[in-house]
Amino acid sequence: MAVWDDLVGQERVAEQLGAAARDADALVTAHAAGGPEPDASSMTHAWLFTGPPGSGRATAARAFAAALQCLSPDRALGGVPGCGFCDGCHTSLVGTHADVEVIRTDLLSIGVKETRELVRRAQLSPAGGRWQVIVMEDADRLTEGAGNVLLKAVEEPAPRTVWLLCAPSLEDVLPTIRSRCRHLTLRTPPVEAVADVLVRRDGIDPQVAAAAARATQGHIDRARRLATDERARARRAVVLKLPLRVDDVGGCLKAAQELIDAAGEDAKQVADEVDVKETEDMRAALGGGQGGRMPRGTAGVMKDLEERQKRRKTRTQRDSLDLALTDLTGFYRDVLTLQLRARTALANEDVRDAVERIARDTTPERTLRRIEAVLACREALDRNVAPLLAVEAMTMALRD
Ligand SMILES: [Zn+2]
Repeated sequence: MAVWDDLVGQERVAEQLGAAARDADALVTAHAAGGPEPDASSMTHAWLFTGPPGSGRATAARAFAAALQCLSPDRALGGVPGCGFCDGCHTSLVGTHADVEVIRTDLLSIGVKETRELVRRAQLSPAGGRWQVIVMEDADRLTEGAGNVLLKAVEEPAPRTVWLLCAPSLEDVLPTIRSRCRHLTLRTPPVEAVADVLVRRDGIDPQVAAAAARATQGHIDRARRLATDERARARRAVVLKLPLRVDDVGGCLKAAQELIDAAGEDAKQVADEVDVKETEDMRAALGGGQGGRMPRGTAGVMKDLEERQKRRKTRTQRDSLDLALTDLTGFYRDVLTLQLRARTALANEDVRDAVERIARDTTPERTLRRIEAVLACREALDRNVAPLLAVEAMTMALRD
Protein backbone atom coordinates (compact mmCIF):
# COMPACT_ATOMS: atom_id res chain seq x y z
CA MET A 1 0.00 0.00 0.00
CA ALA A 2 1.53 3.31 -1.10
CA VAL A 3 2.15 5.93 1.59
CA TRP A 4 -0.32 8.21 -0.23
CA ASP A 5 -3.24 5.89 0.51
CA ASP A 6 -3.38 7.37 4.03
CA LEU A 7 -4.29 10.81 2.69
CA VAL A 8 -8.03 10.39 2.84
CA GLY A 9 -9.97 12.75 0.58
CA GLN A 10 -6.90 14.93 -0.21
CA GLU A 11 -6.34 14.16 -3.89
CA ARG A 12 -4.87 17.55 -4.82
CA VAL A 13 -2.43 17.63 -1.93
CA ALA A 14 -1.33 14.05 -2.67
CA GLU A 15 -0.69 14.98 -6.29
CA GLN A 16 1.40 18.00 -5.37
CA LEU A 17 3.45 16.06 -2.80
CA GLY A 18 3.92 13.19 -5.24
CA ALA A 19 5.36 15.59 -7.83
CA ALA A 20 7.67 17.09 -5.19
CA ALA A 21 8.86 13.65 -4.10
CA ARG A 22 9.58 12.75 -7.72
CA ASP A 23 11.65 15.91 -8.21
CA ALA A 24 13.42 15.29 -4.91
CA ASP A 25 14.30 11.79 -6.08
CA ALA A 26 15.62 13.14 -9.39
CA LEU A 27 17.88 15.54 -7.45
CA VAL A 28 19.32 12.77 -5.27
CA THR A 29 19.86 10.51 -8.27
CA ALA A 30 21.57 13.25 -10.30
CA HIS A 31 23.89 14.15 -7.42
CA ALA A 32 24.83 10.53 -6.85
CA ALA A 33 25.67 10.15 -10.53
CA GLY A 34 27.57 13.44 -10.56
CA GLY A 35 25.30 14.65 -13.35
CA PRO A 36 23.89 18.14 -13.96
CA GLU A 37 21.19 19.48 -11.65
CA PRO A 38 17.74 18.56 -12.99
CA ASP A 39 14.79 20.93 -12.96
CA ALA A 40 13.17 20.27 -9.58
CA SER A 41 10.80 23.17 -9.10
CA SER A 42 8.12 21.03 -7.42
CA MET A 43 10.47 20.44 -4.51
CA THR A 44 11.37 22.95 -1.80
CA HIS A 45 12.94 23.01 1.68
CA ALA A 46 10.11 24.19 3.87
CA TRP A 47 6.47 23.18 3.79
CA LEU A 48 3.51 24.23 5.86
CA PHE A 49 0.52 21.88 6.12
CA THR A 50 -2.67 23.47 7.41
CA GLY A 51 -6.20 22.14 7.79
CA PRO A 52 -8.91 21.64 10.39
CA PRO A 53 -8.41 19.07 13.18
CA GLY A 54 -8.80 15.57 11.83
CA SER A 55 -8.03 16.50 8.23
CA GLY A 56 -4.76 14.58 8.51
CA ARG A 57 -2.08 17.30 8.41
CA ALA A 58 0.44 15.19 10.29
CA THR A 59 -0.45 12.09 8.27
CA ALA A 60 0.23 14.00 5.04
CA ALA A 61 3.54 15.31 6.37
CA ARG A 62 4.64 11.83 7.47
CA ALA A 63 3.65 10.32 4.13
CA PHE A 64 5.73 12.94 2.35
CA ALA A 65 8.66 12.29 4.71
CA ALA A 66 8.46 8.58 3.83
CA ALA A 67 8.25 9.31 0.10
CA LEU A 68 11.41 11.44 0.35
CA GLN A 69 13.21 8.39 1.78
CA CYS A 70 11.64 5.89 -0.65
CA LEU A 71 14.21 3.66 -2.32
CA SER A 72 12.05 2.15 -5.03
CA PRO A 73 9.78 4.58 -6.84
CA ASP A 74 6.86 2.48 -7.95
CA ARG A 75 6.32 2.10 -11.65
CA ALA A 76 2.67 1.47 -11.00
CA LEU A 77 2.43 4.97 -9.54
CA GLY A 78 4.08 6.48 -12.61
CA GLY A 79 7.48 6.65 -10.95
CA VAL A 80 6.19 8.52 -7.89
CA PRO A 81 8.16 7.58 -4.77
CA GLY A 82 6.33 6.37 -1.67
CA CYS A 83 5.83 2.66 -2.41
CA GLY A 84 5.12 1.97 1.28
CA PHE A 85 7.09 -1.29 1.25
CA CYS A 86 10.77 -0.52 0.81
CA ASP A 87 13.07 -0.04 3.77
CA GLY A 88 13.05 3.77 3.38
CA CYS A 89 9.26 4.03 3.39
CA HIS A 90 8.75 1.46 6.10
CA THR A 91 11.24 2.79 8.65
CA SER A 92 10.00 6.35 8.05
CA LEU A 93 6.42 5.35 8.73
CA VAL A 94 7.16 3.36 11.88
CA GLY A 95 9.45 6.10 13.20
CA THR A 96 12.85 4.40 13.08
CA HIS A 97 14.43 6.08 10.03
CA ALA A 98 17.65 7.82 11.07
CA ASP A 99 16.90 10.86 8.90
CA VAL A 100 13.29 11.45 9.86
CA GLU A 101 12.57 13.28 13.08
CA VAL A 102 8.94 13.69 14.11
CA ILE A 103 8.30 16.31 16.78
CA ARG A 104 4.97 15.73 18.45
CA THR A 105 4.40 17.59 21.67
CA ASP A 106 2.03 16.73 24.45
CA LEU A 107 2.70 20.10 26.05
CA LEU A 108 1.02 23.42 25.50
CA SER A 109 4.09 25.03 23.99
CA ILE A 110 7.43 24.26 22.32
CA GLY A 111 10.24 26.29 23.85
CA VAL A 112 13.53 27.81 22.73
CA LYS A 113 15.70 25.06 24.23
CA GLU A 114 14.05 22.19 22.34
CA THR A 115 13.95 24.19 19.13
CA ARG A 116 17.69 24.99 19.30
CA GLU A 117 18.40 21.28 19.63
CA LEU A 118 16.25 20.58 16.56
CA VAL A 119 17.91 23.29 14.51
CA ARG A 120 21.29 21.83 15.42
CA ARG A 121 20.12 18.45 14.22
CA ALA A 122 18.77 19.92 11.02
CA GLN A 123 22.29 21.00 10.07
CA LEU A 124 23.48 17.38 9.90
CA SER A 125 23.90 15.63 6.59
CA PRO A 126 21.41 12.80 6.10
CA ALA A 127 22.93 9.48 7.20
CA GLY A 128 21.11 7.63 4.42
CA GLY A 129 22.31 10.06 1.76
CA ARG A 130 18.84 11.32 0.81
CA TRP A 131 17.10 13.97 2.93
CA GLN A 132 17.17 15.06 6.55
CA VAL A 133 13.45 15.49 7.26
CA ILE A 134 11.99 17.20 10.31
CA VAL A 135 8.26 16.94 10.84
CA MET A 136 6.87 19.38 13.39
CA GLU A 137 3.30 18.33 14.07
CA ASP A 138 2.37 21.28 16.28
CA ALA A 139 4.14 24.27 14.80
CA ASP A 140 1.33 26.42 16.23
CA ARG A 141 2.69 25.68 19.70
CA LEU A 142 6.08 27.30 19.12
CA THR A 143 6.64 30.16 21.54
CA GLU A 144 7.63 33.42 19.89
CA GLY A 145 11.24 32.94 20.94
CA ALA A 146 11.26 29.39 19.57
CA GLY A 147 9.71 30.63 16.33
CA ASN A 148 12.57 33.05 15.88
CA VAL A 149 15.10 30.28 16.43
CA LEU A 150 13.32 28.18 13.81
CA LEU A 151 13.11 31.07 11.39
CA LYS A 152 16.88 31.18 10.95
CA ALA A 153 16.96 27.48 10.10
CA VAL A 154 14.11 27.78 7.60
CA GLU A 155 15.73 30.83 6.00
CA GLU A 156 19.07 29.16 5.42
CA PRO A 157 18.47 25.42 5.31
CA ALA A 158 21.26 22.91 4.86
CA PRO A 159 21.20 21.63 1.26
CA ARG A 160 19.49 18.32 2.09
CA THR A 161 17.23 19.41 4.94
CA VAL A 162 13.46 19.55 4.63
CA TRP A 163 11.15 21.11 7.23
CA LEU A 164 7.53 19.94 7.33
CA LEU A 165 5.48 22.14 9.65
CA CYS A 166 1.86 21.44 10.57
CA ALA A 167 -0.65 23.86 12.08
CA PRO A 168 -4.44 24.32 12.10
CA SER A 169 -4.31 27.54 10.08
CA LEU A 170 -1.85 30.00 8.54
CA GLU A 171 -2.59 32.52 11.30
CA ASP A 172 -1.21 30.06 13.87
CA VAL A 173 2.33 30.41 12.54
CA LEU A 174 4.64 33.46 12.68
CA PRO A 175 4.23 35.46 9.44
CA THR A 176 8.00 35.45 8.91
CA ILE A 177 8.03 31.64 8.98
CA ARG A 178 4.97 31.02 6.88
CA SER A 179 6.19 33.38 4.16
CA ARG A 180 9.18 31.08 3.68
CA CYS A 181 7.15 27.89 3.43
CA ARG A 182 5.23 26.37 0.56
CA HIS A 183 1.69 26.14 1.81
CA LEU A 184 -0.66 23.16 1.45
CA THR A 185 -4.27 23.24 2.65
CA LEU A 186 -6.03 20.04 3.64
CA ARG A 187 -9.79 19.85 3.82
CA THR A 188 -12.07 17.91 6.12
CA PRO A 189 -12.45 14.60 4.28
CA PRO A 190 -15.95 13.52 3.23
CA VAL A 191 -17.69 11.26 5.75
CA GLU A 192 -17.89 8.42 3.18
CA ALA A 193 -14.14 8.56 2.54
CA VAL A 194 -13.41 8.26 6.27
CA ALA A 195 -15.81 5.34 6.68
CA ASP A 196 -14.20 3.68 3.68
CA VAL A 197 -10.68 3.92 5.09
CA LEU A 198 -11.80 2.56 8.48
CA VAL A 199 -13.20 -0.50 6.74
CA ARG A 200 -10.34 -0.93 4.29
CA ARG A 201 -7.37 -0.26 6.54
CA ASP A 202 -8.56 -1.04 10.04
CA GLY A 203 -10.94 -3.86 9.21
CA ILE A 204 -13.82 -2.19 11.05
CA ASP A 205 -17.36 -3.38 10.39
CA PRO A 206 -18.93 -1.15 7.66
CA GLN A 207 -21.93 -0.17 9.76
CA VAL A 208 -19.83 0.76 12.80
CA ALA A 209 -17.41 2.65 10.55
CA ALA A 210 -20.20 4.64 8.91
CA ALA A 211 -21.71 5.62 12.27
CA ALA A 212 -18.33 6.65 13.70
CA ALA A 213 -17.40 8.69 10.61
CA ARG A 214 -20.76 10.47 10.71
CA ALA A 215 -20.61 11.16 14.45
CA THR A 216 -17.15 12.73 14.19
CA GLN A 217 -17.93 14.58 10.94
CA GLY A 218 -14.92 13.39 9.00
CA HIS A 219 -12.33 13.54 11.80
CA ILE A 220 -10.34 10.40 10.98
CA ASP A 221 -8.51 9.79 14.24
CA ARG A 222 -11.57 10.43 16.36
CA ALA A 223 -13.68 8.23 14.11
CA ARG A 224 -11.22 5.36 14.48
CA ARG A 225 -11.10 5.81 18.23
CA LEU A 226 -14.87 5.91 18.51
CA ALA A 227 -15.17 2.76 16.40
CA THR A 228 -12.61 0.82 18.42
CA ASP A 229 -12.58 2.20 21.96
CA GLU A 230 -15.40 1.37 24.35
CA ARG A 231 -14.36 4.17 26.74
CA ALA A 232 -14.55 6.81 24.01
CA ARG A 233 -18.08 5.66 23.16
CA ALA A 234 -19.15 5.79 26.80
CA ARG A 235 -17.67 9.28 27.18
CA ARG A 236 -19.50 10.56 24.13
CA ALA A 237 -22.79 9.07 25.33
CA VAL A 238 -22.48 11.00 28.60
CA VAL A 239 -21.75 14.27 26.80
CA LEU A 240 -24.72 13.87 24.46
CA LYS A 241 -27.06 13.43 27.43
CA LEU A 242 -26.04 16.81 28.81
CA PRO A 243 -28.52 18.91 26.77
CA LEU A 244 -31.39 17.04 28.44
CA ARG A 245 -30.02 17.60 31.94
CA VAL A 246 -29.62 21.36 32.10
CA ASP A 247 -33.18 22.17 33.22
CA ASP A 248 -32.31 23.74 36.57
CA VAL A 249 -29.32 25.31 38.28
CA GLY A 250 -28.56 22.13 40.22
CA GLY A 251 -28.52 20.06 37.03
CA CYS A 252 -26.24 22.60 35.30
CA LEU A 253 -23.68 22.63 38.08
CA LYS A 254 -23.71 18.85 38.36
CA ALA A 255 -23.27 18.39 34.61
CA ALA A 256 -20.37 20.86 34.61
CA GLN A 257 -18.66 19.05 37.46
CA GLU A 258 -19.04 15.73 35.65
CA LEU A 259 -17.42 17.05 32.48
CA ILE A 260 -14.50 18.35 34.51
CA ASP A 261 -14.17 15.07 36.42
CA ALA A 262 -14.18 13.06 33.19
CA ALA A 263 -11.39 15.24 31.77
CA GLY A 264 -9.48 14.77 35.01
CA GLU A 265 -9.86 11.01 34.73
CA ASP A 266 -8.46 11.05 31.19
CA ALA A 267 -5.46 13.02 32.39
CA LYS A 268 -4.95 10.64 35.29
CA GLN A 269 -5.07 7.64 32.97
CA VAL A 270 -2.34 9.13 30.77
CA ALA A 271 -0.32 9.96 33.86
CA ASP A 272 -0.63 6.41 35.19
CA GLU A 273 0.40 4.95 31.85
CA VAL A 274 3.27 7.28 31.01
CA ASP A 275 4.59 9.25 33.99
CA VAL A 276 5.53 6.38 36.28
CA LYS A 277 7.61 4.61 33.65
CA GLU A 278 9.14 7.88 32.48
CA THR A 279 10.22 8.77 36.01
CA GLU A 280 11.68 5.30 36.60
CA ASP A 281 13.61 5.43 33.33
CA MET A 282 14.97 8.85 34.17
CA ARG A 283 16.07 7.75 37.64
CA ALA A 284 17.82 4.73 36.17
CA ALA A 285 19.48 6.86 33.48
CA LEU A 286 20.79 9.23 36.13
CA GLY A 287 22.25 6.36 38.14
CA GLY A 288 19.72 6.27 40.96
CA GLY A 289 19.20 2.93 42.73
CA GLN A 290 15.76 1.47 43.22
CA GLY A 291 13.98 3.59 45.80
CA GLY A 292 17.41 4.80 46.92
CA ARG A 293 18.98 8.23 46.95
CA MET A 294 19.73 10.02 43.72
CA PRO A 295 23.30 11.01 42.88
CA ARG A 296 24.33 14.59 43.58
CA GLY A 297 23.37 17.23 41.02
CA THR A 298 20.43 15.35 39.52
CA ALA A 299 17.67 17.08 41.46
CA GLY A 300 17.28 19.77 38.80
CA VAL A 301 16.69 17.23 36.04
CA MET A 302 14.10 15.37 38.10
CA LYS A 303 12.39 18.66 38.86
CA ASP A 304 12.29 19.50 35.13
CA LEU A 305 10.67 16.15 34.43
CA GLU A 306 8.06 16.76 37.12
CA GLU A 307 7.25 20.16 35.62
CA ARG A 308 6.93 18.59 32.17
CA GLN A 309 4.55 15.94 33.48
CA LYS A 310 2.45 18.58 35.17
CA ARG A 311 2.17 20.57 31.95
CA ARG A 312 1.26 17.42 30.03
CA LYS A 313 -1.52 16.71 32.50
CA THR A 314 -3.01 20.15 31.94
CA ARG A 315 -2.85 19.61 28.20
CA THR A 316 -4.55 16.19 28.33
CA GLN A 317 -7.29 17.60 30.51
CA ARG A 318 -7.86 20.42 28.10
CA ASP A 319 -7.89 18.15 25.02
CA SER A 320 -10.46 15.94 26.67
CA LEU A 321 -12.70 18.93 27.45
CA ASP A 322 -12.24 20.14 23.92
CA LEU A 323 -13.55 16.84 22.55
CA ALA A 324 -16.61 17.09 24.78
CA LEU A 325 -17.30 20.62 23.52
CA THR A 326 -16.96 19.43 19.92
CA ASP A 327 -19.56 16.71 20.55
CA LEU A 328 -21.90 19.24 22.16
CA THR A 329 -21.59 21.65 19.23
CA GLY A 330 -22.41 18.75 16.90
CA PHE A 331 -25.51 17.94 18.92
CA TYR A 332 -26.89 21.48 18.72
CA ARG A 333 -26.02 21.67 15.05
CA ASP A 334 -28.22 18.61 14.56
CA VAL A 335 -30.99 20.36 16.51
CA LEU A 336 -30.67 23.32 14.16
CA THR A 337 -30.74 21.02 11.14
CA LEU A 338 -34.14 19.68 12.22
CA GLN A 339 -35.48 23.11 13.18
CA LEU A 340 -34.54 24.58 9.81
CA ARG A 341 -35.71 21.45 7.99
CA ALA A 342 -32.36 21.28 6.23
CA ARG A 343 -31.85 18.18 4.13
CA THR A 344 -28.59 17.19 5.80
CA ALA A 345 -27.96 13.89 7.55
CA LEU A 346 -27.69 14.12 11.34
CA ALA A 347 -24.22 13.62 12.80
CA ASN A 348 -25.71 12.07 15.93
CA GLU A 349 -28.29 9.76 14.40
CA ASP A 350 -27.94 7.45 17.42
CA VAL A 351 -29.48 10.07 19.75
CA ARG A 352 -32.11 11.28 17.30
CA ASP A 353 -34.82 11.12 19.98
CA ALA A 354 -33.04 13.67 22.17
CA VAL A 355 -32.25 15.89 19.18
CA GLU A 356 -35.89 15.81 18.08
CA ARG A 357 -37.18 16.59 21.53
CA ILE A 358 -35.03 19.69 21.92
CA ALA A 359 -35.70 20.79 18.35
CA ARG A 360 -39.44 20.62 19.04
CA ASP A 361 -39.32 22.46 22.36
CA THR A 362 -37.11 25.41 21.36
CA THR A 363 -36.44 27.85 18.50
CA PRO A 364 -33.57 28.14 16.01
CA GLU A 365 -32.56 31.45 17.66
CA ARG A 366 -32.24 29.69 20.99
CA THR A 367 -30.18 26.92 19.41
CA LEU A 368 -27.81 29.44 17.85
CA ARG A 369 -27.34 31.10 21.25
CA ARG A 370 -26.54 27.71 22.73
CA ILE A 371 -23.95 26.97 20.07
CA GLU A 372 -22.44 30.36 20.86
CA ALA A 373 -22.32 29.44 24.55
CA VAL A 374 -20.31 26.31 23.74
CA LEU A 375 -17.92 28.26 21.52
CA ALA A 376 -17.54 30.92 24.23
CA CYS A 377 -16.55 28.20 26.68
CA ARG A 378 -13.86 26.98 24.32
CA GLU A 379 -12.51 30.52 23.95
CA ALA A 380 -12.49 30.98 27.72
CA LEU A 381 -10.46 27.76 28.09
CA ASP A 382 -8.04 29.04 25.46
CA ARG A 383 -7.60 32.16 27.58
CA ASN A 384 -6.79 29.96 30.59
CA VAL A 385 -9.97 30.67 32.52
CA ALA A 386 -10.32 28.06 35.31
CA PRO A 387 -11.97 25.07 33.56
CA LEU A 388 -14.75 24.54 36.11
CA LEU A 389 -15.76 28.22 35.94
CA ALA A 390 -15.81 28.21 32.14
CA VAL A 391 -17.84 25.00 31.92
CA GLU A 392 -20.30 26.13 34.60
CA ALA A 393 -20.88 29.39 32.76
CA MET A 394 -21.61 27.33 29.66
CA THR A 395 -24.05 24.86 31.22
CA MET A 396 -25.90 27.77 32.87
CA ALA A 397 -26.17 29.47 29.47
CA LEU A 398 -27.53 26.25 27.94
CA ARG A 399 -30.38 26.25 30.45
CA ASP A 400 -33.83 27.30 29.24
ZN1 LIG B 1 9.34 3.11 -0.78
